[in-house]
Formats: sequence, C-alpha cells, structure tokens
Amino acid sequence: MSKRDYYEVLGVAKNASEAELKKAYRRLAMKHHPDRNPDSKEAEEKFKEAKEAYEVLTDAQKRSAYDQFGHAGVDPSMGAGPGAAGAGNFSDVFGDIFGDIFGGGGGPGGQQGSRAYRGADLRYNMTLSLEDAVAGTTVKIRVPTMVKCGTCDGTGAKKGTSPVKCSTCDGHGQVRMQQGFFSVQQTCPTCHGSGQEIKDPCNACHGQGRIQEQKTLSVKIPPGVDNGDRIRLGGEGEAGEHGGPAGDLYVQISVKKHAIFERQDNNLYCEMPVDIVTAALGGELEVPTLSGRVKLKVPAGSQSGKSFRLKGKGVKSVRGGSVGDLMCSIAVEVPVNLNGKQKELLQQFGDSLKGNGKHSPLSKSWVDGVKKFFDEMKF
Ligand SMILES: [Zn+2]
Ligand SMILES: [Zn+2]
Repeated sequence: MSKRDYYEVLGVAKNASEAELKKAYRRLAMKHHPDRNPDSKEAEEKFKEAKEAYEVLTDAQKRSAYDQFGHAGVDPSMGAGPGAAGAGNFSDVFGDIFGDIFGGGGGPGGQQGSRAYRGADLRYNMTLSLEDAVAGTTVKIRVPTMVKCGTCDGTGAKKGTSPVKCSTCDGHGQVRMQQGFFSVQQTCPTCHGSGQEIKDPCNACHGQGRIQEQKTLSVKIPPGVDNGDRIRLGGEGEAGEHGGPAGDLYVQISVKKHAIFERQDNNLYCEMPVDIVTAALGGELEVPTLSGRVKLKVPAGSQSGKSFRLKGKGVKSVRGGSVGDLMCSIAVEVPVNLNGKQKELLQQFGDSLKGNGKHSPLSKSWVDGVKKFFDEMKF
C-alpha cells in the first residue's frame, strides 16, 4: 500500500504555515483519537497517519527532505534519529494527545514568568501476565507524586496573600556582585531567580506550591502490548512548581514468563509432550491456546521436535498488523516405570523392527552418514 501525501493527509496547502499544520492536525487527532473510537482500526490508522504527517511537516529539516524526495526522504526506517526508528510507538499516541492537545505547554517559551517549572516525569514499572498483555486490561495503580497544593493553589503563598516582588533583586531574579574589578551577574540568592518572594508561606506546602500525595490512576492497557512497551500518560507526572505544567507518567510494561507459552513478536510458541504410540500411529491432540482448547491432528510417524502451526492463534500487536500464529512443537515421550508385561511387549515389538531400516528413518540416515564418513577417511 503506498503512502498518501502528507499535505493531502492533513488537508493543507504545500506552503501551509506551522499554525495551519497544527490546526489541521488537532482537528484530525480529535476526530480519530483511539479513546473516542474504541476498537476502530480505521480510526487508529487515520490517527497514526495524521500524526506522522504532522511530525514530518513541522520539522523544518524533515519537511524540506520530504518536499525534495517524498516519502523516501523521511523514511523512519532509514534511522532518522533516536525515537524515530523501531517501536512505532503506540505509546506516543497517548502522549501527543494529552501533552500536545489538552495539556499546557503552548509551544516554546510557554512558561509563565520565570517561576513556573514543569514537573518531573515519573516512571511506573508494571508487570502483566501474558493473558492481560495480549487481551488488554485496565489496571489501577497508586503513584506517589507531587501535586499542586490546593490550599494556596500552587502559588506557595499563604491564603489571602500573594508572592511579592523580591526586594533583593527588585524582581529581576539576578543580582550584580562586585568581585575585584569585575561586576558579575548572579542568580539572586533570595528568590533563586524567580524574582518573587513569599513573605508569608503557605502552611500546607511550606511555600513550595506542591505537596506529596498518593494518587490512584486507572491505566488502560491496550491489547497486544509486549515487554518494553511504554504508555505515556500526559500530565500525570509530578505537578509543576509554582503553577507550572505537570510532567508525564510513563508506564513501563514487562510481561511475566508464562508457564506454557513463549511470545516472540506476534507468534506464540509452546512444546507439548506426545506419547510414543500417538506419535507412531497418528492421532488427535488437544492443544491449549489463549482463546481455549483446539484440536490438532498429528500424522502417523511424527518425530520429536516436529512443529505445527496453528494459524491465527498467536497475538495481535498493539501496533496493528495481522494476528500471529501459535507454533506448537511436540516432544515424543519415552515411557517410564514399565512393569514386566509392558517390558516384554516392548521387547517383542523391538525385535519385530530389527533389521529393517524403513521403520527408523533417522537411525538409517545416521548409520549411512557414519558409514560414508569412515569410508572417506579410509581407516
Ligand atoms: Zn500551599
Ligand atoms: Zn530576588
């Protein structure tokens, strides 16, 4: 499938300004956002398409490469820098929406005055069972975080008062110090550069504007996540200082080892023991899958290690694409703890095989190989 033109995707002219691009992207992102269109593959694709177009066209360097060479000029698989390649990042889907659209920010230099600092990003390590990672789930987590102080509304000043202009630096945040012949500009030691002083600090936060709290968050895990995936919850990190925007919370996914299945990309793998009689005569096995039991026909003469593909019984990645397969390999089990009668029967059976290579294809090709080896060595 060939990619659509980025300008066409956003519905803007070739000479669209940054503001026009942003406006177009917001409109599309709101319309196709996964939260508004649950389980709509089409919306998710449209959303990703718009996001990609927006990211390229708002990057001056990438935009000029795209204008000149088209999609080949900005192919993310060509290694456009950290974060561009690999994952394809469903997680960013969350981030961009909350961070860019609903969050504060407001572009570069969006901080109000010198006092407002963005809060720190937080990381939460979440361990999921394979079943939950594949099917998706909602997990409630408790996160220790700094939140905006409700008593002073984040200003740090006691209720009814406001921060005042710093008297040391007269609100400049910087002071001049005389050092020998030189006059040196330094950050004001009283207000630490903020230019404001809190005469009467808020009792609840001691003038910090933030207090520590445990908050409970409900994290929606989309189906198909895997080890190392990251979900970004914009604005759920620490509150900013003095009314600055909050940081983000990153939920880092790891998936517990499963007793039966092992996942590799979109495929699942498992190994099943098979008794020697079923392996020899053929039969039907019951194979476990994440969606229940299925029957598997094993042909007569199946050797240990033979692998059977159960189409569509694997995993659908969070990044889309088709559902993987379940690869079930068999391990032929040698019977143990035999009684006298069983031993006798097996001995008789063994005798009946003697001297006929056609019953043991592996042994036959092995013996032939060994013979050839010695013949060529001319011992
Ligand atoms: Zn306070
Ligand atoms: Zn000052």
